[in-house]
Amino acid sequence: MKKSKEKGAFLRQCVGCGKRGLKNEFIRIAKTPDGRIVIDGIQSFGGRGAYICNNSECLKKAIKNGRLSKNLRSEVPETIIKELKLVANEKTDG
Ligand SMILES: [Zn+2]
Repeated sequence: MKKSKEKGAFLRQCVGCGKRGLKNEFIRIAKTPDGRIVIDGIQSFGGRGAYICNNSECLKKAIKNGRLSKNLRSEVPETIIKELKLVANEKTDG
C-alpha cells in the first residue's frame, strides 16, 4: 500500500505573476522585526515576507502593481530593488 500525502509542502505565491510553487523556487523578501527590508536568500528571517519568481519580469510586475510593498506593509527601498534585479537576473541564468 502506498500513502503519499505531501504534508508540510506549503505553496508560496509569487507577488508578480501569482504562480504558486515551493519556497525554494522563489526569491524571498523579508521584513525584519526592526522594520528593515532584506533579501532573504536562505529563509533565515522570520516574520513577514513576500515571494517572487526568479526572474526580472515578475520583479517588475510586483513593484509596478504595488504588491511587494503591500505584502511587506512597507515601502521597498531603491537599494533593495536594485539588489533584487541583480539577484533575479543572475538566477534566470541556468
Ligand atoms: Zn512570478
